[in-house]
Amino acid sequence: MAENQLQEAGNGDQMMPEDVETDDCLASYTHLYSPDLLKDNVAFVTGGGSGIGFRIAEVLMRHGCDTVIASRNQERLSEAAKKLSAATGRHCLALSLDVRQPETITAAVEETLKEFGRIDILVNNAAGNFLCPASSLSFNAFKTVMEIDTLGTFNTSKVVYEKWLKDHGGSVVNISATLSYRGQALQVHAGSAKAAIDAMTRHLAVEWGPSGVRVNSLAPGPISGTEGYRRLGGVSAQSSGAFQSIPLQRAGNKTEIAHGVLYLASRAASYVTGASLVVDGGSWLTSANGLPALLDSADLNKDK
Ligand code: NAP
Repeated sequence: MAENQLQEAGNGDQMMPEDVETDDCLASYTHLYSPDLLKDNVAFVTGGGSGIGFRIAEVLMRHGCDTVIASRNQERLSEAAKKLSAATGRHCLALSLDVRQPETITAAVEETLKEFGRIDILVNNAAGNFLCPASSLSFNAFKTVMEIDTLGTFNTSKVVYEKWLKDHGGSVVNISATLSYRGQALQVHAGSAKAAIDAMTRHLAVEWGPSGVRVNSLAPGPISGTEGYRRLGGVSAQSSGAFQSIPLQRAGNKTEIAHGVLYLASRAASYVTGASLVVDGGSWLTSANGLPALLDSADLNKDK
């Protein structure tokens, strides 16, 4: 019995926070930080209607924050906002925007300020990704990923900064990735886009620090219960045992990413800016990175 417990503790499972695979709120939640950590703050979360962004919004709300979740699909956003408000008792506003179109961001930020009167936290989480060898990737596909991930992060940061953060301070968290650290195959588009986001994080941290704005990025590893996980071969990697090579020997969950964002966004990280926090169980250090291994763990026909 004692040995089993030690083994369980050894692979980290006992320390995993609650999560559910679908875009639904947690059935129960154990606070690790004070439930008032973000009391009466307002967060603007792009891509907050699904996957990691949904859980980020939920965890911020469970710490006293009101949120705006913003992306293209208004119907899904409205449904998500209802679930988030019902589970947390906080206000959630669903606003449609396309991060590639600055005028739609401006309208959503103006609507947010009209409704809530402030924006303390911006989470740039919206992104698009798929597996594709560089030689088969169309010029347009590369451009589109750069536009959503990199330009989208810049566009949203600039609008929120000019309309609120410049005069009031606050915190920006950019969701990045570890893809470029070792140059992962089939991911030149997303890896390039996310590397630029990490660079942008440091540039903006330097420029905006004097206005009281902290800018950090968070790079998730493979996170179960997400579109990214399904599209990028996570399911087959799990069933083939590929995650045994990760130091913590498992995929992460969405709540673990949300906890990293909560830390970076809150006053717990009051002296942290320009940092990139990797939340991947040590995955990028040890996971296979050869083309055959990636082709093996990914079903390219399904993922395109
Ligand atoms: P997801 O559910 O597909 O989330 C992407 C979100 O972005 C969606 O809510 C989507 O909403 C929104 N979006 C896409 N294009 C947009 C646009 N042009 N304008 C506004 N919103 C847009 O993916 P996820 O797997 O949770 O990933 C979330 C973040 O984590 C991403 O930044 C991703 O790169 C990063 N990440 C994920 C993993 C993983 O294992 N899942 C690993 C590393 C990094 P609409 O369709 O409504 O626009």
